[in-house]
Amino acid sequence: MRKKLSVTSKILIGMGIGLLLGSLINAFAANVAFIQDYVVNGFLYVVGAAFINALKMLVVPLVTFSLICGVCGIGDVGILGRVGLKAFLLYIATTGLAVAMAMVVAILIAPGKDFNRDISTATSTEFMVRQAPPVSDVLINIVPRNPVHAFAEGNMLQIIFFVIMFAIAMLMTGETGRQLADGAAKLNAVMMKVVTLVMDFAPIGVFCLMAKTFAEQGIDLIVPMIGYFGVVILCLLLHALGTFSLLLAILARLNPLLFIRKMRPAHIFAFSTASSNATIPVTMQVVEQRLGVDNSTAAFTIPLGATVNMDGTAIMQGVATVFIANVYQIDLGLGQYLTVIGMSILASIGTAGVPGVGLIMLAMVFNQVGLPVEGIALILGVDRLLDMLRTAVNVTGDATVTCIVAHGENSIDRQIYNDPNAGVITEIELPHKKERA
Ligand code: ASP
Repeated sequence: MRKKLSVTSKILIGMGIGLLLGSLINAFAANVAFIQDYVVNGFLYVVGAAFINALKMLVVPLVTFSLICGVCGIGDVGILGRVGLKAFLLYIATTGLAVAMAMVVAILIAPGKDFNRDISTATSTEFMVRQAPPVSDVLINIVPRNPVHAFAEGNMLQIIFFVIMFAIAMLMTGETGRQLADGAAKLNAVMMKVVTLVMDFAPIGVFCLMAKTFAEQGIDLIVPMIGYFGVVILCLLLHALGTFSLLLAILARLNPLLFIRKMRPAHIFAFSTASSNATIPVTMQVVEQRLGVDNSTAAFTIPLGATVNMDGTAIMQGVATVFIANVYQIDLGLGQYLTVIGMSILASIGTAGVPGVGLIMLAMVFNQVGLPVEGIALILGVDRLLDMLRTAVNVTGDATVTCIVAHGENSIDRQIYNDPNAGVITEIELPHKKERA
């Protein structure tokens, strides 16, 4: 009997073929109008963008129903506050740790010391106008003025705020609330099925995203920037494989190797979409079904993490600061390094996990420590690839903290966590498929 490929393996194959095809187009067909118009900006663009839309389409309803179930599952406002506070503090601590480690490694390796700079001011002007959002604004904007607007915009912090209040009110309204909670549980189950349906198209979606990105991104862009590129990747790996593994083993007594293996679908999606927000449905599915975290914890901590926790982004910002300071031969003092840590944490909290946002926030970090904002033009060319990698680290951070919080709350099923095959999707059965068979 033929062994069925898991969906993850099919997605991996799609990713590999996409990478190969994209690189071939970049190398041999960069100037062939037909290929560019109909393949890269035609088929690949349309299918890839439609697939990202499909993922984003899942986020708001999934988070809403799942969060209602989560809050009703916890059933106690005090515990809810404790889970939220623990997750939030761990998110801040891991981001701080990430950026501090990144700066230490970058200072030791010193990328950019002998860099021959040739800066295009044209590309840099768009970064000049950005200002840091004041902390007061970040706090005020957590409370939505109009929940419908928050839902329409997909503003995750505002949605979380409103849904938690709504669900707490459900808990307080006795039987009526309980009936609503039953309804939400049913809607949540259906939404999970919708996720599975979208995943059915993931191999082709991921193939198109990868092929388009690599058709446009020549690997040759990296060569002059290899120092910066290499240090960012080194720090991302150190954090993802080192820091997270240690935290999981020490704080939650969980096997980090199993964690890394089971996180693969979330990594692939984060890498190909470069958006932690769009990856929320996959991260939630992995954390609940493969790692055994109860919905009452994951429904809250995963969407929260996708918004407030960006360790990979903070790492890029730390390395970029040291790199640009080296290129422009500007000496930074301890105070400025500490400012970078604070700013990276704030940037991480105040922005949503969407592609490229880390680079925009970097302008605000540079402003704060007096580095030339036009330096960003230097790293612009290689940012897309790094964005993909750091997004994978961002979602790994969300899942790590979720497991640690779940351990503290006794809401992780270790049997599921330790079972290598738990939650593996081998085949998605659509009714019409069965009929045809
Ligand atoms: N793309 C990243 C994310 O969604 C954010 C960034 O670093 O630009 O997590």
